[in-house]
Amino acid sequence: MFNIVKGTHDVIKEEAKKYSYIEEALANFATIYGYKEFRTPIIENSELFTRSVGNSSDIVRKEMYTFEDKGGRSITLRPEMTAGTIRSMVNEKLFAIQDYPVKAFYCGPNFRYERPQQGRYRQFNQFGVECAGVTTVERDVEVIALAYSMLQFLGFEDVKLSINTLGDEETRTNYKNALKEYFSKHVDNMCSDCKERFNLNIMRILDCKVESDRKIIDKAPKISSYLSTNAKEKFDKTLNYLKDLDIPYVIDEELVRGLDYYTGIVFEFHYTSKNGNNYGAICAGGHYGHLISEIGGPDLEGVGFAFGIERLAKVMEDDGLFPDLDDGIDLFIMPIGEKARNFSVSLAYNLRNLFFSTEICYEDKSFSQMFKKAERRNAKLALIIGENELEKKEVTLKDLNTKEQETIKIDDLLKVLYKYFEQDEHNHEHSEHECCCGHHSHQDCDNDDHECHHEHDESDHCCCHKHEK
Ligand code: AMP
Repeated sequence: MFNIVKGTHDVIKEEAKKYSYIEEALANFATIYGYKEFRTPIIENSELFTRSVGNSSDIVRKEMYTFEDKGGRSITLRPEMTAGTIRSMVNEKLFAIQDYPVKAFYCGPNFRYERPQQGRYRQFNQFGVECAGVTTVERDVEVIALAYSMLQFLGFEDVKLSINTLGDEETRTNYKNALKEYFSKHVDNMCSDCKERFNLNIMRILDCKVESDRKIIDKAPKISSYLSTNAKEKFDKTLNYLKDLDIPYVIDEELVRGLDYYTGIVFEFHYTSKNGNNYGAICAGGHYGHLISEIGGPDLEGVGFAFGIERLAKVMEDDGLFPDLDDGIDLFIMPIGEKARNFSVSLAYNLRNLFFSTEICYEDKSFSQMFKKAERRNAKLALIIGENELEKKEVTLKDLNTKEQETIKIDDLLKVLYKYFEQDEHNHEHSEHECCCGHHSHQDCDNDDHECHHEHDESDHCCCHKHEK
């Protein structure tokens, strides 16, 4: 037995189905907003993250999985996906045609050596978007609206959007000076992280969670008093748009985000499930001013966010926000005897090619054991094939829900199955124009490889199970 690596978790069966549901829903929404999928490598050169996420961030200082490869290069398992996505845009010269914004969405695992706790893993999945090459407030708002719409679609009713602005250069210079002056009187009594942050990036002190430090931080100067006219105008405009779109928000002046590349607005979505669980931010993002040029691209800005799939799945599970993700199969075939087993091989092959999810019991089992197996697989129908029936070209179909059963001609099987699943309220997705030969309509059957010698019924279904060349 090998233990799973600390801070990682297996996502299997029903849980994997839930992750796929979330990821598909988010991808569909991102596509509606014009984003294209980017799949970038999990490993990147370490310098990408030290340059982008930043030397003063906890991620770079303490949390990266970095190793030297056999060629002596310093490689890091990505701790986030913005840097890799922007690197890919630069490498692929997507900014060259100057048709902005370049819109990317991504989904995949990330790695951070954090202290594992509720909602915090060392390998976790993110879904995110990057809208690169933009400066307008409208794009910032569009990206926040996208995250909000996604959450609404997933069933979140009162999700909390926290927003702040880190202002422009002028704002940050003045604010950092004010913070320096204030914290210089307190830093000796603060945690070791804060001492480091004081020198590396003083605004990150605001992010400290140590209780004794919080008392000091709460009395620190607020950024709102240092916003330049331009930064204030931009932030007010952003908030007005959010009001227009009916997206509720709270301003959180201590929200600075843990990655150094943010400038301008930063935001997080939080949610507490009905039983009181809060796993931390379920989505976080912001505007980045220099990231693209830092990575070697043109001097353009961008905005993006990332959802944490683990946290989303957990709160959705807590509050019953998942639809019925039926993972039962359509048919469980129970062959009795050698001949029936032989027949079942091609029958199952053909049915599966027609998208009927099918399982077979090849093992010698009693009826009651086979029905147990069907039940465990949550099968809708059992298809019993006995030797005598087979000789008469018949099979018995049992509805495992109503327990009704009927014996039918094998040639009628497809017709009966289509009728059953059309009536099945679970909106079964079998096409009207499929033939069990695997081609999509019976017209297609008349090609060089296959000639269908069986008659097709009125609805274009072919009821054969075998084809001749
Ligand atoms: P970040 O890349 O830090 O801005 O995080 C974006 C989102 O990823 C957060 O809001 C979380 O939902 C999720 N996330 C970040 N770190 C972790 C982690 N260690 N475990 C699980 N989810 C995480």
